[in-house]
Amino acid sequence: MKKAAKKTTKKTYCMVCPKWEIKNPDRCSNTIKKGAKTLYFCTKRCKERFEKAPDKFL
Ligand SMILES: [Zn+2]
Repeated sequence: MKKAAKKTTKKTYCMVCPKWEIKNPDRCSNTIKKGAKTLYFCTKRCKERFEKAPDKFL
């Protein structure tokens, strides 16, 4: 039996407000590189909030 390939379109969300989907992560300029991972933020403000207290959001 063949299983239908599930579409795994990974959604990207803002690290600070997880309900906020980043529609075009490629175009997102509010990002922080953390090792191999890239963290996305919906606004510059969210990025700044994260930078001040990253432990709160990870
Ligand atoms: Zn945000």
